[in-house]
Amino acid sequence: MSEPATAPVPKPWIMDIAPYVPGRSTTDDGRKVAKLSSNENPLGTSRAVVEAFAQGKASLSRYPDAGAAALREAIAARHGLDPARVIYGTGSDEVLHLAAGAYSGPGDEVIYVRYGFSVYDIAARRSGATPVIAPDKDYATDVDAILAAVTERTTLVFIANPNNPTGTYTPRADLRRLHAGLRPDIMLVVDQAYAEYLEADEQDGAFELSQTEANVIVTRTFSKIYGLAAERIGWGYGSAEAVAAMHRIRAPFNVTTAGQIAAIVAVNDLAWEEASRAHNREWLAWLAGEVGALGNHGLRAVPSRANFLLVLFEGNLSAEQAYKGLMDAGYIVRWLPGQGLPHGLRITVGTPEETQGLARALRALCEAAG
Ligand SMILES: *Cc1c(COP(=O)(O)O)cnc(C)c1O
Repeated sequence: MSEPATAPVPKPWIMDIAPYVPGRSTTDDGRKVAKLSSNENPLGTSRAVVEAFAQGKASLSRYPDAGAAALREAIAARHGLDPARVIYGTGSDEVLHLAAGAYSGPGDEVIYVRYGFSVYDIAARRSGATPVIAPDKDYATDVDAILAAVTERTTLVFIANPNNPTGTYTPRADLRRLHAGLRPDIMLVVDQAYAEYLEADEQDGAFELSQTEANVIVTRTFSKIYGLAAERIGWGYGSAEAVAAMHRIRAPFNVTTAGQIAAIVAVNDLAWEEASRAHNREWLAWLAGEVGALGNHGLRAVPSRANFLLVLFEGNLSAEQAYKGLMDAGYIVRWLPGQGLPHGLRITVGTPEETQGLARALRALCEAAG
């Protein structure tokens, strides 16, 4: 027998997790700058939602509604879903963890794409499962590569649509093909954190799939277009069985009272959504155009359908130099060496002033680098 440990030892699969790296909001020297590193809504939060949030203080001493009944009803009414099949979490991050926790464990394989959202790796490893990375197709999700990565041990596939950090979009027909190619015992989790940035006629159809297919879970968040990132609320939709399984392992009071009240108003604030979508449509296209004009300096933007742009640096100016130069100029973006993208910066669409200022700073850095 080996020597007993002299202190408690964390599970080895836990220590294999690379910690999540959040977007920064201050520079190395502590200056406050434009934060374009976390895909938050540059317009902030709608006034109606802020007012609803304030009502939460009337019942601070009471636990929140553990069943989030009113929130589930509001979500279901807005999207034409069954409220009993809505699961909710402390951010959609928790819902992603619930899906991995319910459907994967030691010996199982969880597939996601290279340059996928970093939480998938954490959630898979946390449950003891083995992460399997399917190659991308020029930074986009490659349905055939995912299907080719399936083995008899596969129990779950994560895809984000649009994906973060690439912004790429998997069209409806490809999503159908992915689902059709998976065994019925493999859970497909479609993470739609940026779906509100797509027009109504561009949606990928994952909700329709989840209505009839037992092996589809769709997740959404209030952190992005709804401007409620601080309150940590996300939700998901799946079969009654999947939702029952996830309920068993969620924290008992996982969404706050003020957050629930605010989210109910947010999900019905169509004017806010449209204004935010319109802002993003205009300024994402503008920023992509500016980056395109720097093509002679080796810059390239990956086509994005989300509220950010992945910019690749293949010329004299490196992504790391651009990251530091932009920080000096007052703009924090996301440099992604830890996600296999040392040559990429993910830039969130900001206010008009922020977006224009960032583009000016980027051009100046390119010209200085030659
Ligand atoms: C931001 C993001 C989320 C979730 O965020 P929460 O704040 O936890 O709801 C989930 N998936 C992707 C791809 C994201 O970019």
